[in-house]
Amino acid sequence: MINASLKELGAALAQKRISSVELTTLFVDRIEKLNPTLNAFVTVDRDKALAAARAADQKLGAGGTALSPLCGIPLAHKDIFCTAGWRTTCGSKMLANFVSPYDAHVVERLNDAGMVLLGKCNMDEFAMGSSNETSFFGPVKNPWNPACVPGGSSGGSAAAVAARLAPAATGTDTGGSIRQPAALCGLTGLKPTYGVVSRYGMIAFASSLDQGGPMAKSAEDCALLLNAMAGFDARDSTSLERPAEDYCRDLEKPLQGLRIGLPKEFFGEGMDAGVRAAVEAAIAEYRKLGATTVEVSLPNSSLSVPAYYVIAPAEASSNLSRFDGVRYGHRAAEYGDLNDMYAKSRAEGFGAEVKRRILIGTYVLSHGYYDAYYLKAQKIRRLIAADFQEAFKACDVIMGPTAPSVAFKFGEKSADPVQMYLSDIYTIAVNLAGLPGLSIPCGFDKQLPVGLQLIVPWFGEAKMLNAAHQFQLATDWHRRMPAGLEA
Ligand code: GLN
Repeated sequence: MINASLKELGAALAQKRISSVELTTLFVDRIEKLNPTLNAFVTVDRDKALAAARAADQKLGAGGTALSPLCGIPLAHKDIFCTAGWRTTCGSKMLANFVSPYDAHVVERLNDAGMVLLGKCNMDEFAMGSSNETSFFGPVKNPWNPACVPGGSSGGSAAAVAARLAPAATGTDTGGSIRQPAALCGLTGLKPTYGVVSRYGMIAFASSLDQGGPMAKSAEDCALLLNAMAGFDARDSTSLERPAEDYCRDLEKPLQGLRIGLPKEFFGEGMDAGVRAAVEAAIAEYRKLGATTVEVSLPNSSLSVPAYYVIAPAEASSNLSRFDGVRYGHRAAEYGDLNDMYAKSRAEGFGAEVKRRILIGTYVLSHGYYDAYYLKAQKIRRLIAADFQEAFKACDVIMGPTAPSVAFKFGEKSADPVQMYLSDIYTIAVNLAGLPGLSIPCGFDKQLPVGLQLIVPWFGEAKMLNAAHQFQLATDWHRRMPAGLEA
């Protein structure tokens, strides 16, 4: 059961071969056994999970055509999604005791589908990081090798699914935080087109980049989850009003004639040899499946990390100003006047990386520097988006590595922020351009999973999932699981 796909779980539940209560118990038991070492979950609540499972079993018992194929299946949320009645920490001391009075749109949608929440997953503080080392609740271990990071910021979600503590999880991706941990933990992770999934109730990091999405064992699972997660929401002003799509509709299409673009900038220096070998082998497999390849260019891609590290901190400095100790969140125990209360609460509540981002963001937005940094970065952002438009004239899907290396050791990059920021060198441009991107497992290097990244034009999710699913029908990288966690 722990390796079953969402479709298989849905069928087992519908045919009463297993109940949601039994399935939920199986996963909560695994969490209790394995989470003390992995630290993938910040909060787990057996009673709440079982109550939701009982409700799902009732819905399943009643049957009917309106029943979601996900009804009764357990899942985990990244602890950035507000969940009524459960605490939502965002990996920070600032929100360590925060219980949201409402559900995020994504949470509502998956609840409505009858999915059962197992718990909330650990993450880099306020989603700032690529290794999960910035969490107030301690680092998450990579299930493939506990000496290595799981990636970030959705590292808890990735480790939970990779260790089979949950059949699937949600994540968010501002610069790579779904795709990079999916790559480092051997999962499939999808970042949708900006605006497809509502950001309502998703704690804001950089609002023009943040996008929620699914993390699961396969593209097919991600398609099923996206069907439930996507959709217009009037409470998010950037949510797109467009007809609902079935993201599973193209999964079975053959890939004959698919044009794959290989950006020369993604295959230059900086990628580990083992990653390159796995990515090239995956592309060879695509050729066998009938695809053709063409070299494309994204000439401004080397500017994506610098532009991102102006834009994302600028937005973060504004978004995080709400954590002032007044209405909710951490408040210092002792302070003088109001200003002192703000300063002490924020100094105590935020960790070092969050403070660094607030400082950078405040600096680049300040009078006299705005034009030189923020405005310039926005212009570069436009050029980066135009590069993709140009490249998509010659291809249907862009492919390359998700990350330059496999999972690295704890401490290896945490002393040098720039080294850490470069972990997202292949993913960040996608957020700047608002495009959909996906990472799928495509091999191993140093006995750790390698991710292949797929990028398509806006709203190309169904095509991207089709390309990923066909690869997964022909290969078994996505079926591998870390040793020692089977029982
Ligand atoms: N690692 C990047 C950062 O630290 C991206 C994070 C994310 O996508 N949330 O900002």
